[in-house]
Amino acid sequence: AKESGRNTYRVFENNLSQAIKRRHKLANELHNAIPDRQMYLVYQPVISLVEPDALGFEALLRWQHPELGSISPMEFIPIAESSGLILELSDFVLSRALEDIGNIKALLKNTPHFSTEKLRVAINLSAAQFKTEDLVSQVVDQASHYSIDLRHLGLEVTESLFISEKAMACQVLESLRVLGCTVSIDDFGTGYSSLAYLSTLPVDTLKIDRSFVDEIETSFNDRTITLAILRLANSLGMDVVAEGVENQAQLAFLEKQACDKAQGYFFAKPMQLKELPEWLASPAH
Ligand code: C2E
Ligand code: CA
Ligand code: CA
Ligand code: CA
Repeated sequence: AKESGRNTYRVFENNLSQAIKRRHKLANELHNAIPDRQMYLVYQPVISLVEPDALGFEALLRWQHPELGSISPMEFIPIAESSGLILELSDFVLSRALEDIGNIKALLKNTPHFSTEKLRVAINLSAAQFKTEDLVSQVVDQASHYSIDLRHLGLEVTESLFISEKAMACQVLESLRVLGCTVSIDDFGTGYSSLAYLSTLPVDTLKIDRSFVDEIETSFNDRTITLAILRLANSLGMDVVAEGVENQAQLAFLEKQACDKAQGYFFAKPMQLKELPEWLASPAH
């Protein structure tokens, strides 16, 4: 027992030091990723369940590392946040997404099924972007550089932003809404939000976390939470997007409960811009 205990410890120690080494390597190489063009955006469709001609996308960041291959944002975003590189990365996301909105609009012009007016592309924001008011002027500058109407831009934030940076976040997001942007709370249901609290936030949409949608068919609790979020949003005049919809049964439940929008592998995985024409031309959506 002693021996196997020692071996287990050694394996654990090896895995730990490997994880630390990998994190170090990524932290050291992250600053090269933008100049070396290893970062790119993929777009996942957000489908309207009530307006057939309304189509949106969420922009998700990808790191194609020359040796390690594709690295998940779940792994490198926290590294970027603790190393300060998150601001540079976020600038890249904002300008690339705005540039691509023009490209996606052009694609939609040839897709009679969808309205170009209703196109909305959402980016994920990090709390670090709210430490100053710069975000507003940055968004305005980049949107005018690419001649994009800000009604096409969505912004996703998490509930934790309103705990760490509440005053500045509310001020900045309200300014951006006045300019036409829509604001969504991401991963909704996993943090802490009371009805009274939520009604004071400058927010248009709640995105129900994937973990609830996952077990919507089998878990009474997850179904109850989903219904509560839908009622809550309805009473506050907010829209709801269900994340992580993977099958027809989940979609049927959400449609029946008058959920506004859905996103997930059932409709499409996140795609590169060059893959969009084929998806738009397919009858699957
Ligand atoms: P998120 O914002 O909640 O993004 C949704 C994640 O769920 C994405 O993972 C997406 O690929 C995945 N997903 C979508 N549909 C399904 C489905 O049907 N089933 C399953 N199992 N998964 C699905 P991804 O792209 O790996 O992103 C992970 C997280 O990284 C994001 O979670 C977001 O928090 C963060 N992130 C991604 N891009 C950015 C960015 O540009 N800036 C910042 N600050 N964070 C980002
Ligand atoms: Ca998101
Ligand atoms: Ca989410
Ligand atoms: Ca669950």
